[in-house]
Amino acid sequence: MKKKRKTKLSKIIRKQQIQQFVLVMATFAILFISLGMIVFHTFESNTYNGIDHGIDKQIKDIRDSPKVIGQPQIHAPGQDDKQQPAQNSPQPKAPFQTSILIYNSKKELVNKSGLGNRYSVLKNVPMRKSDLNKKINITINNMNFRTELIKVSKDNNNDAYAGKYVMVVQNFDNQMESLESFEHILIVSFGIFWLISLVLSYLLTKITMRPIIRSWKQQSEFVNDAAHELRTPLAIIQGKMEYMLTKPNDTIIEQAEPISVSLDEVNRLNSLTNSLLELARADQSTTKMSFQIVEPESFLADPIKPFKDIVESQKKHYSYDIKEKVSLNVDRDKIKQLLIILLDNATKYTPEGGTISIADKVDNGKYYITVSDTGVGISDEDKQKIFGRFYRVDKSRTKATGGHGLGLSIAKQIVKSHHGKIFIEDNHPQGSKFIVELPIKHKR
Ligand code: ADP
Repeated sequence: MKKKRKTKLSKIIRKQQIQQFVLVMATFAILFISLGMIVFHTFESNTYNGIDHGIDKQIKDIRDSPKVIGQPQIHAPGQDDKQQPAQNSPQPKAPFQTSILIYNSKKELVNKSGLGNRYSVLKNVPMRKSDLNKKINITINNMNFRTELIKVSKDNNNDAYAGKYVMVVQNFDNQMESLESFEHILIVSFGIFWLISLVLSYLLTKITMRPIIRSWKQQSEFVNDAAHELRTPLAIIQGKMEYMLTKPNDTIIEQAEPISVSLDEVNRLNSLTNSLLELARADQSTTKMSFQIVEPESFLADPIKPFKDIVESQKKHYSYDIKEKVSLNVDRDKIKQLLIILLDNATKYTPEGGTISIADKVDNGKYYITVSDTGVGISDEDKQKIFGRFYRVDKSRTKATGGHGLGLSIAKQIVKSHHGKIFIEDNHPQGSKFIVELPIKHKR
């Protein structure tokens, strides 16, 4: 039954882990894709800005042409006249950068001869008056060009341009190549980083889920243990009631034993449900605390005095040494409850003839209350565990003493809510010491 419940719990946890992993994976993917797109877009627009800047500069040069004496010249960067092959030579292999095409109003190219061997390619550049003053990308013979067509005024100093349509054609194969290789690098590197982030997100999921799984397990264990604790007294009460039903003519005196056993179990159930409620409230931080600045005497006297009689009636010794006069910010009722838990345990686990002592001291700016006994003592291994819920060192022995294993859990919660600490030490030569550390409220 327990195993079945455990596998069901692991299945739920596994499902939760997968869901979280997919979520983290998708988040990383979205992040990388958006980042990649931003980087690529920035690079691309920078590239185009560079090309456009070249075109704009060229257009400005055309518009502000200096006065030409003699034959008008057309010069475009990268156009080295000396190296220009003959007009009929094959298409140039090396990409050229900028060319200038001059059209008349009938869209006829008028500077064919100035273009040299580029003409075979550039003749295919479409000339559309509708594209006037626009930057257009075109591809001819697998070469990429960015163009802008302008209308040059008739007053232009250079007769070759005056009154003509001039198109600046910029080849950007180099930039396109680097843009493509950048895109390639970007995709590959982001792919690799995404894979790395997958591994990291898997590990992160495991780490972040750990405390959740732990408290989940604790919670379900707590509920199971509580149910188990409730079941035993209920079964006893049911058994006793059913037995009494078989004796309808008996008097109460004749059935005193099952009645008193049932009442004992009802008492156990009462104290158990109260403890459970208290712990649940502390877990949800809904316990109302009323803090007051008081001296130890005011909250220690109440729980200690009645204990003296109980302890002495059990033929145990009692020692009391409360002397410190400091101001503490405490919820008196809660601190009383804490002391009752500790004194009750000390009395329960100390045999006849033993001693239960309570003392206080101030050390290093902290206030300490110590409840010690000369009882059975607590092993080092159990010292770590006894603050856990439902933990009992010797189940059969505690059954006789009536505990549920919740007292110290409640004690720990109370100390925590007072920003204090609780420790266990061995009481030499025999028994244990519970030390509660509380902060002192300094007067201003
Ligand atoms: P319980 O109601 O069973 O006493 P607690 O949470 O108060 O539950 O204590 C948990 C367990 O710690 C006890 O069952 C007991 O085994 C051990 N314990 C607590 N106080 C003492 C003590 N003073 N001496 C020896 N054992 C103790």
